[in-house]
Amino acid sequence: MPEPSLYCVATPIGNLDDMSRRACQVLAEVDCIYAEDTRVTRQLLSHFGIQNRLVSLHDHNEAGRVAEVLAVLAQGKSMALVSDAGTPLISDPGYHLVGAVTQAGFRVIPVPGPSALIAALSVAGLPTDRFCFEGFLPARGNARRKALAALAAEPRTLVLYESSHRIEALLTDMLTTLGGERQLVLARELTKRFEQVCRGTVEALLQAVRTDENLRRGEFVVMLAGAEPAAPAEQDNTTLLRLLLEEGLSVRQAAKVAARLTGQPRNALYRLATALAQEAP
Ligand code: SAM
Repeated sequence: MPEPSLYCVATPIGNLDDMSRRACQVLAEVDCIYAEDTRVTRQLLSHFGIQNRLVSLHDHNEAGRVAEVLAVLAQGKSMALVSDAGTPLISDPGYHLVGAVTQAGFRVIPVPGPSALIAALSVAGLPTDRFCFEGFLPARGNARRKALAALAAEPRTLVLYESSHRIEALLTDMLTTLGGERQLVLARELTKRFEQVCRGTVEALLQAVRTDENLRRGEFVVMLAGAEPAAPAEQDNTTLLRLLLEEGLSVRQAAKVAARLTGQPRNALYRLATALAQEAP
């Protein structure tokens, strides 16, 4: 180890053959390894015949660990940070620690490798020149619908993480908030035995998830095609509906009035008004 450093080491998201030689070498050589769940990492280390000291670092004790890590670095020792799977800090603990270590002037060295987000994007077939990663949306329905409404006009490919418990609810909320026509890709259990990548419209994939219980199992990356740039009429509708909502009309009334004024279908205006109402603070 050339100088005292914190190594952020990526580990497999399923297939253990994705562990890099450099990751093994670093995990064997550092003074100790900070791990999200020491039992999970112990299994990984034993698979590769690595023996090293493991210290837990998770969302609930991260702040308290910072001083300890800085003290070890100050003694000239290096350590590694790993999460249960994939790349640390990507919807996983470590942000506070890395911030504190860099601020204290120590080096933080990435040991890159698997991440579900990048693996999923690489096979989705959706635009990847730009994308918007939102991690996990809120678990509660209202907050999740509000978050989706705020992302409705996002033109970049949207990437989300989701668990099996909420995949159906997420797709249901996408249908009600964004409509059913957009292209969606579900990447499930990547690099594992039951890996599956499903492509279709929001409506079609929601139907598939509802009818096939296997499609509700495992870990998911959900990728949604970005919104088409709003047509001028749509922009006018947004302005008109915002105004009507600000004047105190309900979503239903606003859609009705806008439909009469513009001659456009009330359903589409109702959906837009619903999204705008959820967007409001
Ligand atoms: N740090 C990890 C990474 O770099 O991918 C992500 C950790 S986050 C707590 C866990 C979420 O990542 C899962 O709920 C799922 O959405 C996604 N994920 C992890 N492994 C996956 C896999 N093998 N296939 C699909 N999604 C996965």
